Amino acid sequence: DAAIHVENVTKIYEGDVRALDNVNLTVPRGTIFGLLGPNGAGKSTLINILAGLVNKTAGSASVWGFDIDRDPRNAKASIGIVNQEITFDPFFTPAETLDIQAGLYGVPRNAKRTMELLKAVRLEDKADAYARTLSGGMKRRLMVAKAMVHSPPVLILDEPTAGVDIDLRRQLWDYVRELHAGGVTVILTTHYLEEAEELCDRIAIINHGKLIADKPTRELVNMA
Ligand code: ADP
Ligand code: ADP
Repeated sequence: DAAIHVENVTKIYEGDVRALDNVNLTVPRGTIFGLLGPNGAGKSTLINILAGLVNKTAGSASVWGFDIDRDPRNAKASIGIVNQEITFDPFFTPAETLDIQAGLYGVPRNAKRTMELLKAVRLEDKADAYARTLSGGMKRRLMVAKAMVHSPPVLILDEPTAGVDIDLRRQLWDYVRELHAGGVTVILTTHYLEEAEELCDRIAIINHGKLIADKPTRELVNMA
């Protein structure tokens, strides 16, 4: 089975905006997969459909073999998603943030596991600080830890390095590689070709809602 399988997916938003037009895509397990395209191409729409946050207009999709319509709970349990927006309460600490997330996913709260997650994103020193006092990079890392609380086999990162400086970008890249080495299939959206080239085994290009390429990185870069 694939990590992600998308078949003939179309999304038309209100106002006749065709954000996705008959997209077919397979993300093999064990890859770092890049979804590349300019602003407005449909990247967020596609990942929000996979995460169960946006309803598709037509087509079918599955996550880790679970159909998102027929088996939404298992599909959702198989995915962790990091959006661009920061979505934790600034008046809770990182440790509390992860405990709350565990509660939402029905994962037993466990102080040891919480510290492991924080260690993985190098926030163990900040476990008990108010989240509002974290730097921008720390906040992004906490978002990643939060997405990994239920140990999903697939992690999706929406524009993980948009607007971050080069040092933080490299830190996030290293962290993505560590997760991948630990067995997680990673999908990231980006509009930077260099970022996809640096990190990804395979790249799909989306433009105006249509998939226009889907190739191993080496092949794609040789074409450009
Ligand atoms: P991105 O490029 O990451 O998708 P956007 O600024 O385009 O960021 O979108 C931010 C949020 O606004 C997303 O959740 C998206 O679904 C929503 N959005 C984008 N365009 C529209 C629109 N035309 N009408 C309503 N919501 C929109
Ligand atoms: P990307 O993530 O590649 O920037 P999006 O998926 O955010 O692209 O957007 C694809 C298209 O759908 C854009 O034209 C955007 O304006 C539109 N769009 C996104 N979200 C909404 C929404 N909630 N309502 C209406 N149009 C939207």
